[in-house]
Amino acid sequence: MLVLGIESSCDETGAAVVRDGRYLLSNVVASQIEIHNRYGGVVPEVASRQQIAAIIPVVETALAQASCSWDDLDAISATYGPGLAGSLLVGLTVGKTLALARNKPFLGVNHLEAHLYANWLRDEPAPAEDAVEAALREQPGDPLFPLICLVISGAHSEIVLVREHGDYQLLGRTRDDAAGEALDKVSRVLGLGYPGGPAIQRMAQQAEDAYVEQKKSVKKARNVYRLPRAWLRGTYDFSFSGVKTAMLHLAEGATDATRTHEEGKPSTQYTRYTRMGEQAAQAGAPDVALLASGFQEAIVDVLAVKTRMAAQEYQVKQVILAGGVAANLSLRARMRQELQPLGIRLSYPSIDFCTDNAAMIASAAFFHLSLGERHGMELDVQPGLSLPFRK
Ligand code: ATP
Ligand code: MG
Ligand code: FE
Repeated sequence: MLVLGIESSCDETGAAVVRDGRYLLSNVVASQIEIHNRYGGVVPEVASRQQIAAIIPVVETALAQASCSWDDLDAISATYGPGLAGSLLVGLTVGKTLALARNKPFLGVNHLEAHLYANWLRDEPAPAEDAVEAALREQPGDPLFPLICLVISGAHSEIVLVREHGDYQLLGRTRDDAAGEALDKVSRVLGLGYPGGPAIQRMAQQAEDAYVEQKKSVKKARNVYRLPRAWLRGTYDFSFSGVKTAMLHLAEGATDATRTHEEGKPSTQYTRYTRMGEQAAQAGAPDVALLASGFQEAIVDVLAVKTRMAAQEYQVKQVILAGGVAANLSLRARMRQELQPLGIRLSYPSIDFCTDNAAMIASAAFFHLSLGERHGMELDVQPGLSLPFRK
């Protein structure tokens, strides 16, 4: 089954053609990172306007790269939530309109579920066309149920037990900031730009490499700034606002030399921190890199330990990572360390499929479409949509 996926929930415009939920024929993403970097984060009105400009060329390119005509497509799918209302509206409207005009089945996709299904995507080329029935059976390389999914993205941090396709049980979630959100905010304060996750990872790597070169351990680099962890014991919930605030205070100290405001009155204004951070980063202040390393470690530590505990309690065969923060190399390595001794399998999407893309939308759509699910033209955007948890 060939599915066209469309993604427009935030600041990425994506279109992809995917066979049987796994094999990529094309995957096109137009990112607005450079535009939003100027503001230190995504500006919703700007994002939706950019979506309108990008969507048609992106869809056309995806079809062309897949060498695929409209006749070849079996269905069309688009994200309907969660995300920014204005951005969602663009992709959903285009998806529904194309389905209507080309007389194809349509399916609206939950963006978070799609982040999970990125784990079904593969880098290898598509084999000769399979019957849908065969494709629906578990294939070698597919994640094994029951599994624990750690969803860590720009707006979500959740530990979810997945017993089967579509069977989601929420075990824990963040009580304040999402992991990605904390990374993005702290990056801004350190003057490292947007998006924060990759920037913090790069800086942390610099600090850790420097320590290794000096024959000191990576662990030591990560502990120069030992940041607080909110364990919230007895729950699988997270909280990242404490470590974020601790970072704000530390970042201020780390950039003392360039302090421009009144002594003893720490400002909470991001703009001011950002200016100081930028100066410090330009001057190559080593503290910024060590701060990044300590901060990343504090987040990775809590995510990895709690996910491992959930995997043990629910005796799952596999853990999967989903969402933009799953691209983090430090987290991937730490998860392997936690799970390998227990014989629990770990998988994560390849880097390009961790952050927002349309291939994952087409993949999630495939598993629903195969069960006969369809949406009508009345489907509307749902900016606050969550995973469909069992009660
Ligand atoms: P949601 O999926 O919850 O609606 P979103 O779509 O904005 O939110 P994603 O695109 O899944 O979020 O992920 C973006 C987040 O991933 C950003 O916060 C970004 O900083 C983070 N991120 C991207 N790459 C990395 C990395 N290498 N390490 C850590 N974080 C990363
Ligand atoms: Mg994004
Ligand atoms: Fe996302």
